Amino acid sequence: MLVECRDVTRYFGGVRALAGVTLDIGAGELVGLVGPNGSGKTTLVNLLSGALRPTSGTIRVAGRDIGGLPPHRIAHIGVSRTHQIPRPFESMTLRDNVAMAIMFGRSPRPLAAARQEAERCLDVVSLGHLADARPAQVNLHERQLLEMARAIATRPKVLLLDEALAGLNPAEIDQAVAVVRRIHASGITIVIVEHLLRVVNQLATRMVVLNQGACLADGDPRTVMSDPDVIRAYLGRHAHA
Ligand code: ADP
Ligand code: MG
Repeated sequence: MLVECRDVTRYFGGVRALAGVTLDIGAGELVGLVGPNGSGKTTLVNLLSGALRPTSGTIRVAGRDIGGLPPHRIAHIGVSRTHQIPRPFESMTLRDNVAMAIMFGRSPRPLAAARQEAERCLDVVSLGHLADARPAQVNLHERQLLEMARAIATRPKVLLLDEALAGLNPAEIDQAVAVVRRIHASGITIVIVEHLLRVVNQLATRMVVLNQGACLADGDPRTVMSDPDVIRAYLGRHAHA
């Protein structure tokens, strides 16, 4: 198993964001992590990447307990993530934004080599033609693809994508889906948080549904999405929205 979560719980003050999540993710999986707003998806991503610590429970990545390790050490073990709101270095070209991730990553290289590798990563996310542009010159879609290029630059074992497709139009979503597939085909295990079920359904090899911080369903996408408990969790929310 690449990722092993055992009874992971996280409180924010009196709010229980995650309530005893036990979850194994094997190498090569493409896991869709879904659930209503506030169900704990981002909290789980934050725990897996070390941005937050669990209140209780353990998380192992590649056999190592990541409890107590700072985010950069967890990155060196092979966990990489994107953020819901990309924050690139605005004064640098896209190429150098990715090169920086390599130079401070788990196998640092000199600038010239890092730039070359950065161009390879930009090609993977279909941004090769924009290597010389700066973040302010590209659109939201391209900024999110840049975020993915930075995340794969460190050659992670597992990539966590938190709403990396949010705010995109249908054509951009199709392109982003193709990019995610390409990254997965390159041998990187992926956990994708996505609220568009139609999209995550066609991508994921497995679907995990969180509801109120707990794992409500886990299995192949078709079975999970026809589960009455899952339908109720979504429709229940919509009915109250
Ligand atoms: P999701 O990503 O599924 O929408 P989150 O993980 O962001 O859900 O949030 C889960 C719950 O934890 C929500 O009730 C949210 O308000 C709460 N929460 C998340 N982060 C914080 C925080 N930093 N401080 C306080 N409460 C938080
Ligand atoms: Mg979220």
